[in-house]
Amino acid sequence: MKMKKLLFSILLFALTVSSFLLPLSLAKGALFNFASSSSSSSSSASSCCLTLDFLKLQVLLTATLLLVLEDFDKCINTSHARHLLEDDVIRTQTSVDLAKGYMTNADLEKAIKQFGQRCSNISRIYSIGKSVHGFPLWVIEISDKPGEEETEPAFKYIGNVHGDEPVGRELLIYLANWLCDNYLTDPLATLIVENVHLHILPSMNPDGYSLRKRGNANEVDLNRDFPDQFFPLNYNEDSRQPETRAIINWAKDIRFTASATLHGGALVANYPWDGTKDRSTSYFGCPDDETFQFMASIYSHSHYNMSTSKEFPGGITNGASWYPIYGGMQDWNYIHAGCFELTLEVSDNKWPNAAELPIIWRYNKMSLLNLVASLVKTGLHGRIYSSHDGRPLPGIISITGINYTVRAGKTFADYHRLLAPKDKYEVVATMPGYKSKNTTIWLDEGAVSLDFVLDPEFTVKGSVLQNDYDCNCNNKRTLEFVHFLGGFHLELYLIFIATLGFLCLLLLRRGKLKFSTQRLSPVAKRTAVV
Ligand SMILES: [Zn+2]
Repeated sequence: MKMKKLLFSILLFALTVSSFLLPLSLAKGALFNFASSSSSSSSSASSCCLTLDFLKLQVLLTATLLLVLEDFDKCINTSHARHLLEDDVIRTQTSVDLAKGYMTNADLEKAIKQFGQRCSNISRIYSIGKSVHGFPLWVIEISDKPGEEETEPAFKYIGNVHGDEPVGRELLIYLANWLCDNYLTDPLATLIVENVHLHILPSMNPDGYSLRKRGNANEVDLNRDFPDQFFPLNYNEDSRQPETRAIINWAKDIRFTASATLHGGALVANYPWDGTKDRSTSYFGCPDDETFQFMASIYSHSHYNMSTSKEFPGGITNGASWYPIYGGMQDWNYIHAGCFELTLEVSDNKWPNAAELPIIWRYNKMSLLNLVASLVKTGLHGRIYSSHDGRPLPGIISITGINYTVRAGKTFADYHRLLAPKDKYEVVATMPGYKSKNTTIWLDEGAVSLDFVLDPEFTVKGSVLQNDYDCNCNNKRTLEFVHFLGGFHLELYLIFIATLGFLCLLLLRRGKLKFSTQRLSPVAKRTAVV
């Protein structure tokens, strides 16, 4: 490209110089003729030859320049559309359907259903809603226990957010099939199937795809249709597009730890924030900026050539520093769904020749797999229990210095806190009615497993022992009874307290036995209980 630019400049310079020399040569000829009208026919002939030579040179230069210009133009048009195969798809796209060789919506639906039948042991197919034109938004869940709640993180991949960016939907079908074909033979496939609940929505915008348009059937850009943190976009829930509403409800149903949407038109892993307060194009990192950079780098460095990008150092970019958007999906996920989402641009060319899809899959394969696997191979994972009766507590995990909290699951109180490797993190577990606990961890590239056992919070009111949480041995009714007795029969009251204490001790011992039998993450390097 640089050579062509240089050649172009040289040719342009030469043409300009020759353009000046041509009239000069003519003038020179005229001058010669005027100065020596008959004396020097040879000099006149030589000036004539000189003029002809300049003319020839100019014609030659112009022709070469035009050729280089055409080539140069081609380079510009394709610099953002690196072709993986030799073809002239761009020039023929106007007359031929862009989607030739790509799955139609009906093909996609068929592929999803066939996958569900072929890989029924590790998958389930469900729909999260319908598009404007009524096309179901099909999801493939891949897990060794699909549809069941487990103490495992959940990840979601969404393709085809923009109707005219179809590469993602094709890649996600490749991904699902690869996992099915390699489960129990490939360690990475097995790790993902057995330790993550992976949900794949190949097409969020089937209407846009069939219309070959960016927006949905109502011409709304779905990646601008989410509630925004800075500007009151789309406040009215009813006016939000059905595809957007489906995603919002989906994220309410399933506690996703992380996710990624697949786009086309560039090659970069983009992370929040997507917008700035003043709409300026400048770097604006979210509280988990380091973690997001780490996540995005996992994708770019596992990719065939994303990390070697000249436009984006390391193949990653902060959304707002690239171009700010408002109403985007990734910021909404981080703020409202507790989900760390990336926006992945997986192909420079939005509509590469369908023959290139297997190659683009190969280029993105390890990235797609490693990003999902990072949910169990990195970060901090564990559960929160009550020291009182060993029951799981759906508490909150926070990291000192990072203004963000992660909520433990309601059923098993498992939490999954993605974090960039670092020497020290102070982790705090909190739950209303319980004393908070904190501990310091050292986190390298591997995952750390850390369970918390929280003690109930007691307060003394008057002479009566009271607690403000619900528990089997010290529940409110008992305390009211104790209070009633306290005023009249002190001995009875003391005996009652002693019995309660004994019962609590017994329950605590049972609780401890329960903690020791809890399953730990199979990939966690160290385990601890605090
Ligand atoms: Zn897009």
